[in-house]
Amino acid sequence: MELIFKTSFHDNVKYEVAQICRELGYEVREEYKGKDWRADVLVLANNQMYAFEIQTSAQSLKRTLERQEKYKRDVVVGCWLFEKEPKQKEELEQLPLFKLNNNNDQLTVSLKDRKELPLNLFLRDFLQDKIRFSTILSPREIEVRFIEFDCWKCKLKNHIYYIGNYISPCNAKLFDGDIKIWDSEKIIFNPQIRDKVLSYAKNNIKLNMATIKERYSHTINNSYMSFGCFGCDSIFGDWFVHEAVIETWYGDGVVDKMIIPTKDTSIDLQVEIPHWCHPGDCNFCNSKQNNDNN
Ligand SMILES: [Zn+2]
Ligand SMILES: [Zn+2]
Repeated sequence: MELIFKTSFHDNVKYEVAQICRELGYEVREEYKGKDWRADVLVLANNQMYAFEIQTSAQSLKRTLERQEKYKRDVVVGCWLFEKEPKQKEELEQLPLFKLNNNNDQLTVSLKDRKELPLNLFLRDFLQDKIRFSTILSPREIEVRFIEFDCWKCKLKNHIYYIGNYISPCNAKLFDGDIKIWDSEKIIFNPQIRDKVLSYAKNNIKLNMATIKERYSHTINNSYMSFGCFGCDSIFGDWFVHEAVIETWYGDGVVDKMIIPTKDTSIDLQVEIPHWCHPGDCNFCNSKQNNDNN
């Protein structure tokens, strides 16, 4: 889509929004005047009125919420596209508010750092109720990372693993990146995770997995579930494993990765993170199917 910059950016975007909504087959009015509000673009889609507001100047959250109240009162769904978003502690159900970006005349809408959608796809999915508010985030995938770890005793090269990200259907990535030092309840050693990782690693000639079992640690005078050398069985102390893991947080040193679908485990990974969920072809974060897996 090419933008013609003979008018203001605001007016160009408004025109684009109206044009896209018309092409989607909806009824559209530009600069529509309500009782005490005026919508940049008013759209009637599936028996629901939507007001799209293109906000190129700064507007506080308080003021935005005040304006949103008027739409709500008149049974209009206000949807805000901000060039510069107002500060928000968290995303709000009563306020669909997104960031509008212009990259070389390509208009996109970002759903925080989860997704960046071309304007036409954003509008299509928003109007078709494919972007919904969810108070919880349900990771659908667990990203396992493999890294090298040399045995401190016999110098054999072993591989160990940790969890990088928990990834939601709407593409939120919750970084874990830890092994939880000296904690025997480590999620990496959860049998459902461990067995999948080990069977994957067995079929991967690049990987020489450290063995996993309870070993006695002189550092903490106790036994705990640990990685240890597949050659000489020496314990790889959590502290050193933790240090090795941190060094690979940004990707360097990650030898391989695998994805474990959350549904293959009984681990409850849901977290309370209110967000506008756009799962594409997957289930919404708050859909019943996700909850049933746990
Ligand atoms: Zn060894
Ligand atoms: Zn989501």
